[in-house]
Amino acid sequence: MADYKQQLESIGFRYDTLTAAGYNKINGICFVVRINPSAKDYSVTASCKPQDEQSAQMINSELQKFMSERPKLLKTALFDGKQIIICYNLGFTANIAQGVSDAVNTVMYYANQYACIPCCSVCGNPSYPDIYSIGSSVSALCTDCFGSFQKKNAVNIMQDEMMITNYPMGFIGAMLGGLAGAVIWLIFSLLGKISFIAGFFAGFGGIFGFKWLGKKVTAAGIVISVIVSFLFLISGMYIAVGIDLYNAIISWGYDISFTEALKLLPEFIIEDAEIRNAILFDNIIGIVTFILAAILSIWQVRKDGQLKNRAIRLM
Ligand SMILES: [Zn+2]
Repeated sequence: MADYKQQLESIGFRYDTLTAAGYNKINGICFVVRINPSAKDYSVTASCKPQDEQSAQMINSELQKFMSERPKLLKTALFDGKQIIICYNLGFTANIAQGVSDAVNTVMYYANQYACIPCCSVCGNPSYPDIYSIGSSVSALCTDCFGSFQKKNAVNIMQDEMMITNYPMGFIGAMLGGLAGAVIWLIFSLLGKISFIAGFFAGFGGIFGFKWLGKKVTAAGIVISVIVSFLFLISGMYIAVGIDLYNAIISWGYDISFTEALKLLPEFIIEDAEIRNAILFDNIIGIVTFILAAILSIWQVRKDGQLKNRAIRLM
């Protein structure tokens, strides 16, 4: 994975890990770099504007030229009245320092050429804005705009605290997530394959299922969802091995019901080391992916929680 923090710091930017955003102030103009790996791009925005309409048009036509000079490298380059936005494709090398420097140099050149002044990225009022993190976004705001965001945020936090976790529904959600993993495991097992996806499904499904129906994830909710979805995955694995055993016994010429085969399974596991190792080896892959997914989803849920009510000044 590319080290965006290091790349941005090498050109004097700071980096906010929670939002994956870089930021800096140059001559009072706020720069924000938003890295968006899922859309395979990153954008550099500079909150500033010229004092007259003609200069604004000039900047836009300069940006058109800027874009045509960098085919493939750029997605968009425009001035929206409050900020200059330059969006780069996230290339294979993922080195963004070069692109960001390129954008900064260009913006500073326009700023000098067309006498741009710093402004708020929301209301557009000329002022000396600061860089704030509101929820999951990082923006250049004047104190008035930040104040109103902060008020909305305070209301959200209050509503959030008043929201009660619905444990029975959360439990059902975790069950559904775990069940999805178990069913996928069974299907793949019937096809004679080991499924990585099943472990992931159960791991993610448990916690996100809990969040979906239980509304709010608490520490107890995390424990419940991990245990419930793990039990479902294990049950799926047990049934899958049971099916294999049932088929084997039938092929040996014995007449046995599936339930009887399931009951015999523990004996086989205890007595036959070869079967035991084969089962362990097959299932360990599903269990490892489950653990990975569970850790990832706990991390994601916690991060979402931290970001949701965030309203702080970064710079
Ligand atoms: Zn404002």
